[in-house]
Amino acid sequence: MSTYACAALLSRRGWHCDVFAPGHTRAADTVTLVLNDVCETLLYELFPNGGWDRLGYRLHRSDVLWGHASQSQRITRPAIAVRREVLLSHLQAQCRQLPHVVIHDEASPDGDQAAAYAWRINPRSPTPGPPGAIYAGQRVLLASRAHVLADADRTCCYIESVVDGWLFLIPTGGTGAVIQAMLPGAPQDGEESLQNLLAQSWLIAPLINGLEEVSGFTAAPRMHLPLAEPRLLRMGEAAVRLEPLSGEGSAFALRNAILAAAVLTAGSGEEEAVVQQHYQHRLLRSFLAHLDGCVKFYRQAFARHAAWQQEIMIMQHTHSHVFMTHCPPGEHQLSHRLVDLGCQPWPVSPWQ
Ligand SMILES: Cc1cc2nc3c(=O)[nH]c(=O)nc-3n(C[C@H](O)[C@H](O)[C@H](O)COP(=O)(O)OP(=O)(O)OC[C@H]3O[C@@H](n4cnc5c(N)ncnc54)[C@H](O)[C@@H]3O)c2cc1C
Repeated sequence: MSTYACAALLSRRGWHCDVFAPGHTRAADTVTLVLNDVCETLLYELFPNGGWDRLGYRLHRSDVLWGHASQSQRITRPAIAVRREVLLSHLQAQCRQLPHVVIHDEASPDGDQAAAYAWRINPRSPTPGPPGAIYAGQRVLLASRAHVLADADRTCCYIESVVDGWLFLIPTGGTGAVIQAMLPGAPQDGEESLQNLLAQSWLIAPLINGLEEVSGFTAAPRMHLPLAEPRLLRMGEAAVRLEPLSGEGSAFALRNAILAAAVLTAGSGEEEAVVQQHYQHRLLRSFLAHLDGCVKFYRQAFARHAAWQQEIMIMQHTHSHVFMTHCPPGEHQLSHRLVDLGCQPWPVSPWQ
């Protein structure tokens, strides 16, 4: 997402961009995204003719049962449910129409990835383990297709914390749905773990049946430093991955692309080093604010759960380590002004 967004912005400035993209339409990508209204607005600003509201399935609200609440809370929240593969191939098609942008299949030899570019932007997620990758936890998201039953409001997402994790139900049109479950670590058997979580649920479990194959994704917040080097920026999930609880991942990736394009076009020489530093600080601050939000909401739901306590501790430790190691002392006093406005700690609930 961030790759195509950044290419669109640079194309407007007359920059030539070679995009080396995976073949999205061929990928067996099972991920369904819920794009919030911020994300939809940004997509329309970046690609005004994208027809984004027609790309997926329209949702209007969320029902949230979290922590010790005895009743679910209904929140009006417009969103679109869309398969990631569909979104990425549509973004790619939009980009193909732009001047100055050439899309290369990363697997084909038609693009010279070794060419001497003025800038490179790396949107690839790091594989576990490289130096610089900071993982704030070990949690895992399970996902499966499912069917919604007649009692479900099919324009509503459902979010529920249960004893061992949390569940997210996304209607996708007709009786179709996707059920996601977050666990504090990798399960031995994904299907069994998803069924266990559903057995603890009273909001979501009665609304679905017909689970299908279960996929698993690492899902803890992650950052990969350095975010900026001379002539190289990390962007999107390759820079910062937010955890799905926030529902902000895609909007954040688009905002990151806007910031990256601004950094690239900001100038050269001394100024360049300053804007690169600013890029890293903005993303660092957003990452820290995100960790604060995760700690707050996971404490509400899982304060007495040993494995979740471990996740909370890792996030707190990561927060202080990143803050002490990577935020220069002079910046501490200004921190409230440096937080990315779009990513401030969640005021009341991440679902509002
Ligand atoms: C299971 C799951 C559910 C999610 N649900 C939501 C949700 O409901 N709402 C939401 O807002 N966000 C959600 N997200 C997060 C969202 O998918 C990401 O935040 C967003 O796609 C990141 O954009 P990106 O530009 O970094 O990567 P994208 O371009 O979207 O690509 C996705 C993946 O492909 C890889 N990739 C990208 N470009 C290249 C390239 N050129 N070469 C090789 N690999 C590449 C990236 O490493 C990345 O991991 C979810 C993520 C997962 C895994």
